[in-house]
Parts: sequence; structure tokens; C-alpha cells
Amino acid sequence: MYVLKGKSVFGGVAIGKISFYNKPNEIVKRYKIEHPDAEFERFESARKTAMEQLAKLYEKAVVEVGEANAMIMQVHLMMLEDLDYLDSVKNIIFTQCVNAEYAVGVTGDNFSQMFSTMEDEYMRERAADVKDISERVIRVLNHDDNNGLILSEPVIIAATDLAPSETVQLDKNKVLSFITRQGTVSSHTAILARNMNIPAIVSVGDELSDDYNGKLAIIDGFTGTIYIEPDETILAEMTEKKKVDEEKKALLLNLKGKENITKDGRKVNIYANIGNSTDIGDVLKNDAGGIGLFRSEFLYLEKNTFPTEDEQFAVYKYVAESMAGKKVIIRTLDIGADKQAEYFNLPAEENPALGYRAIRICLTQVDIFKTQLRALFRASAFGNISIMFPMITSVEEVLEIKEVVKEVKEELRSTGIEFKENLEMGIMIETPAAVMISDLLAKEVDFFSVGTNDLTQYTTAIDRQNPRLEKFYNPHHLAILRMLELTAKNAHDNGIWVGICGELAADLELTEEFLRIGIDELSVSPGLVLSVRKKVREIDLS
Ligand code: PEP
Ligand code: MG
Repeated sequence: MYVLKGKSVFGGVAIGKISFYNKPNEIVKRYKIEHPDAEFERFESARKTAMEQLAKLYEKAVVEVGEANAMIMQVHLMMLEDLDYLDSVKNIIFTQCVNAEYAVGVTGDNFSQMFSTMEDEYMRERAADVKDISERVIRVLNHDDNNGLILSEPVIIAATDLAPSETVQLDKNKVLSFITRQGTVSSHTAILARNMNIPAIVSVGDELSDDYNGKLAIIDGFTGTIYIEPDETILAEMTEKKKVDEEKKALLLNLKGKENITKDGRKVNIYANIGNSTDIGDVLKNDAGGIGLFRSEFLYLEKNTFPTEDEQFAVYKYVAESMAGKKVIIRTLDIGADKQAEYFNLPAEENPALGYRAIRICLTQVDIFKTQLRALFRASAFGNISIMFPMITSVEEVLEIKEVVKEVKEELRSTGIEFKENLEMGIMIETPAAVMISDLLAKEVDFFSVGTNDLTQYTTAIDRQNPRLEKFYNPHHLAILRMLELTAKNAHDNGIWVGICGELAADLELTEEFLRIGIDELSVSPGLVLSVRKKVREIDLS
């Protein structure tokens, strides 16, 4: 038995086999070969297998998402037959006498670079596709057709790190737990694990060896411990711990239907955070009063190209209808920094967290913003939708947003499309600038929701993605609590409500403090709604 330690992201115990997810670019090595002919043959055979896979995926996609959406597989198939692409691979293998994986990787990078600089928007969008097909062929060459994202049985996913775009592709029903060598507890991957309600451990370090692939393991999300090939005693002990935890969670279900009210009668809204419409089941199961944060960017991360207005409309409408009149706060696109989708072709930046992201992209590439706003307003006719804007730092940004919203509403009105005129619009308070001018911002919007993840990062100057800084990271920093207090005061003085949708909202050590400073809403991972309700009901503020 091997015992490893890391940082826990979510409690719970998972028992199952480890499946390593290796990013394709982690495993592309360059080495010399003696027989270019044979190497090219190897490439040809991998290319054929990749094409067979794509043909099957196309058929599956036609059934699941319709022909128009499945077309992308056809585009990939065509790319794998492109003569320039094939010539490039052949050339590299023959002139440099190198392995096929390397030739395909270099060709993919070169073509992707070339596409990304083209005038034509359609062609620019193909940059991500050509990388995608190259990675597929490399996986086949490495006999790693299943890169770990397509799972046939429930497993514990192990990886160096997982990007949010990779995490969203996982089949939720097949993931028992995540364990990563790197990563931090407030990274988006950690947040997704919490949303998925599964034990997860990050920052395990290099001791998490590839050799553990396929081995039986136990993940103790309470203590951050991983047991590989557990002995009988640990297996029995952990099986019991898992049972007790499941019983506790079942007991919490008794709180369904009960009010979020303190002993002295103070009420608070407890909503859920989601990243995908498939999270709705957990939201309803855990009896959340609404959705306090729908991270809409995950819709974009799941795809290889921009989701269309109709695609987005269908998702927002479904979420609004499923929540049957309960509030659904949808945050507009918060892409950039750690949340990257290749087709956005965002430039590499020295300080991505301080860079071109979220509302800054929307106010620069207004077409992208308008497409989303149109979808949101159209969906507003089918439920109780509110819109929330991320990464606000100034009143001017809010005024600019309002102008774009006005245009979108006029366009919809002129085409006779139904939408809710007085839809509630709020902003995230997640920069120190927004806190300090929250008195002015409160006059322009209907609500505030404090994003403590970014607010902590920007206030304490600690990159939420950097595991080396975790020892300096203090989520209970007095500066954050004071900022929350100031924001709540300014909200209430101006007659608007204020909530928290960062991870801190679920911190039971602070629930009482939040209520004392007048927080009106706490939005947490669906699986934590009932724990927060339990805590609220135990508090006496009098
Ligand atoms: C936050 O910053 O606290 C937040 C809720 O948004 P995200 O974690 O998606 O950046
Ligand atoms: Mg944020």
C-alpha cells in the first residue's frame, strides 16, 4: 500500500481504479527513426483509425445533438484527407528522419498558427480543429485512443493538472474523484469538482506516479489522503467512513423543504452554483432556492467553436423552465485567464489574471456579447432569469453594458421577439475597485454578488492558480471580511440586495458573520446547499 497526501477540495470517500489522463502535448517526444517508409506507414494506419473514430462520433453526434452540430466531425474528417497536411507530415518524417508523433504535432501547430492569422473568420476558427485532429492521431499512434476523457466505467481521474475545458468534457456519472499533482483549492477545476459533488484532492506532487494507472485506490477527501493498493484494514475502515458519510448526507435530505431561517427568525436565500444544464438535477435534489451563479462560460468551453444564439437560448430556456419560476442568475461569459477555449484565439499574456478576460472581451468583441445577450433575453420569457456581469471595475463599464443591452432589446422588439422588459441585472463584486466604488455602482444595478475567489486573489495579490502560494492564502483574511461589510452596507443603503457566490459562501465558520453583516443570499455548490441550511438553522443572532 502507498499513501500520498494532497490538499482536499471536497469531502467524501471514493473507492475505485485510477485512470491517468495524459494531455497529448505532454507525451509528444521527438526521436530519430531508421526507416521513414515504415514510419509513414505507421502514420497512415493511425490516420485511418482516427478517421474511423470520427465517422463513428459523427453518427453518435447526429443522434444526440443533430446534424448541424455534428458537422464539425465531417470537417475534421476532411482535414485528415487534406493533401497539404499529409505532405507536411510526410516531409518532416522523411527529411528529418523523426517519429510520426512529432511530425504530426509540428504539422498541427504550424497549420493552426497559419489558420489563426487568416482574414476569414471561418478559417480562423479552424485553428483549434486542426490541433484537435492532430492530437487525435497522436493519441492513436501512442495507443492511447482513450485519452482518459472518454470513460467506460467509473474511475478516479488522475492528472498533472486539469484545465476547466478538460474537466467539463468528463462524463459526470463516470468520475468517482479527481486527484492532481498540481492545482489549487480555488482553481476552477476544484470548483467543478465541488459542483460535481465528488471528493477531490489537488497538489499531490510528483509522488502521484503514472505507474499507479489502473490500480485500486481510496480517496479520503476529508483528510486529503490517497491510499493506493490499500490493505484490508484500510479498505474496511474507509468503506465504513464512506458509509457514515453517505448516511450523513442522506440525513441532510431531511432538511429539504425547510426554511433557511435562524433561531431568531432571520431568513437568507441559499442558491446553487452551476456550470452546466446537467447540474440542474443536483440543484433540485438539494432543494436550492434558485441558481445564484450559472457560469455560462462552460458552455463555450465544451465546444470547438462559438455556441450559436439558438444553442445558448435552448440551454438558458431549459434551465429557466426546469427551475419553474425560481430565480436563475446567469453570468455572462467570463472567459480568459485559466478558462481558455482555443477558438477565441486569445493572445498569450504575461499576467492572464490581470488580462483580457470576462467583460473586457465582451465590451471589445461586442458581437460575441450581443449573441449571448440576445439568447439570454429571449430565454427570459420562459422563467425567472437575472443577468450578472463579471469582473466589473468601473461605473463606465456598467453604463457601456447598459447601452449594449438597450440595443439588443431594441433589436428584439423590432423583430417582435418576446422577452422580459424589466429583467433584473446585477454585477459581480470581485475586484477591490468595485468594492471601493460599490456606493456608486449600487445606483446603476439591481443586485451585487460578491465573487470571493477573485476578490481574494486581487486583494491579497495571490494567484489562485499557483500552488506555491497556498501557504500564504488566507480565505478568512480580514481585508475580505471588511470588503464584504462595506459592499453590503453600500448595497443596502441604495436599496439593492447582496449575495456571495464565491467558494467562501459555503464556509460554515463564516455563516454567522455573513448573516450579521446582512448578506441576503449565499450561492454554493449544489451538494452544499443543505449543509449551509443546517448551519443557518443552528444560528441565533439575537
Ligand atoms: C469568484 O471569483 O468568486 C467567482 C464566483 O467567479 P469564478 O470563480 O468563476 O471566477
Ligand atoms: Mg471570478
